[in-house]
Amino acid sequence: MADDLPDNSSLPSRQPDEGKNASQSKSHPTNQSDFDKALAELTNAIAARKVEPICTSYLRLRTLAGGMKLEEMFNRIRQAAGDKALEVIVSAFSHRRCFMCDDGVMPCQACQGQGLTDGEPCLSCDGQGVEVCSFCLGTGWSDYNQIPKELRKAVLHRRIRHVEKDLARLVRTVSGKSLDSINKLSKDERKEIIVWLIRLQARLRELAELGKDKDRRADKFGIAAGQIERILKRLRTS
Ligand SMILES: [Zn+2]
Ligand SMILES: [Zn+2]
Repeated sequence: MADDLPDNSSLPSRQPDEGKNASQSKSHPTNQSDFDKALAELTNAIAARKVEPICTSYLRLRTLAGGMKLEEMFNRIRQAAGDKALEVIVSAFSHRRCFMCDDGVMPCQACQGQGLTDGEPCLSCDGQGVEVCSFCLGTGWSDYNQIPKELRKAVLHRRIRHVEKDLARLVRTVSGKSLDSINKLSKDERKEIIVWLIRLQARLRELAELGKDKDRRADKFGIAAGQIERILKRLRTS
């Protein structure tokens, strides 16, 4: 019914020059040429889909944006690097790695990564030669608090989706395996699974902690982390 249509007069009035000068910003970055340079770097990094350069150039751009409004900075990024640019930036931050380890683990200090001490399986690492990274606690991810605030929510959603895929993979593969089939695995296969499980467990724990009282999946993740603990024990001792 015509009566239900919104009255146009209640919409914010448009300035006459709006739309015409969409690319001209109203607020200015502290240093225009540095900002443009950083924007060009970010655009190149996005085109190359390189995680680390995307993250570092975004962080630089952000500090150079000065008094610019967030929405305006986002618009400038979209204009320079395309409509999907922000998605790519979120993806890059959600994949950004911990700098201290190799995907969540580092060589065991007790046995220098050999898995053996005096010919016996190393007690610290159950002979696996790896220990959990003390920096990221095994997630292999960059620190959540180092992610720019405006991207955190989107990054968290991506990390959750990523971990849910891994959980589905866990059900398809390891959880259903009998002790018998675990015993048939080669040493390398077993280590590969253990390292993957250590990482998945750490990620579940981190997400459970971040989502506590906020996200209904947090409990599920906490429970799954406990189940992985049992699988890990079985893998290590069998
Ligand atoms: Zn060791
Ligand atoms: Zn780490």
